[in-house]
Amino acid sequence: MIVVVKPHIPEEKRTRLIDWFKDMGLGVHVSNGEYQTVLGLIGDTSKVDMDLIESLDIVQSVKRVTERFKMCNRKFHPEDTVITVGESKIGGGHFAMIAGPCSVETEDQIVAVAKAVKAAGATMLRGGAFKPRTSPYDFQGLREKGLELLKIAGKETGLPLVTEIMSAADLPYFEDVDVLQVGARNMQNFDMLKELGRCNKPILLKRGLANTLNELLMSAEYIMASGNEKVILCERGIRTYSDYTRNTFDLSAIPMLHELSHLPVVADPSHATGIARLVSPMSCAATAAGADGLMIEVHNDPLHALCDGAQSLKPEEYAEVVKKVLAVRAAIV
Ligand code: PEP
Ligand code: MN
Repeated sequence: MIVVVKPHIPEEKRTRLIDWFKDMGLGVHVSNGEYQTVLGLIGDTSKVDMDLIESLDIVQSVKRVTERFKMCNRKFHPEDTVITVGESKIGGGHFAMIAGPCSVETEDQIVAVAKAVKAAGATMLRGGAFKPRTSPYDFQGLREKGLELLKIAGKETGLPLVTEIMSAADLPYFEDVDVLQVGARNMQNFDMLKELGRCNKPILLKRGLANTLNELLMSAEYIMASGNEKVILCERGIRTYSDYTRNTFDLSAIPMLHELSHLPVVADPSHATGIARLVSPMSCAATAAGADGLMIEVHNDPLHALCDGAQSLKPEEYAEVVKKVLAVRAAIV
């Protein structure tokens, strides 16, 4: 961490600042310039309150030179993390095609969609049973029953299962689930993240609606610091002032997250756009940007879907997207 002291600060005040840092257990490298003094703080600064230092009247500016996230940081783990889910892998050149309905609705629906997406090339089945809905009057998901139906679809197709968990108290129901999804609204549910860090399943961590990449990585750090290193990051669009799409797909987050972290990064063009016809072009764009996988909503009858019908592809449309995505992958590697 670098601390720049304002010009013309009396020696005695500067010394008091340096002693304060030393009392925190840090080494201090002092560089006296003609007009100002630059302090280089050496040691573990992860617990140092940067805002507090910046608020001091003798301090001009403070800059972190190492990030506060350590376990997910590529600096300390240069190779890509590869996560195995059933027979498929994700990360380090392995691409995951996660597809399925927003919500599990009936056995016929989830089995039909599972078979269709598998035939189209999907490698994992998604389907929400515990749904985080904005309105309490909207369909809340079939909960435990939904997980049972998802399991049937998994058995019928052999596809690994990805589904959202909203509370660590529900963990016992998720025994047969392969990947636990933390939804955008729960990205900073720190108690749940810690609890998921104590389980052994891969976690698909979605970026919050208004969260920075640093915050996303700090949330990944919560899971990893509690013992679970199998975290998959997911860019699913953020809130901006764009008015024709549900969210703004932050495509540059994909290569930036790869730069910052060794964890796999998947993209969700369905929630990012909210519009089915935009899913194909944005799937291609995310693939070209280096995503390690795509999570796409597919429904056998989008017009009657209980949730997110507007952004859901029909199975035949999904099959076309898979073909295009494979062509983009072939073109970029
Ligand atoms: C979902 O994947 O169904 C979902 C609710 O996504 P998000 O948490 O990104 O809104
Ligand atoms: Mn959805």
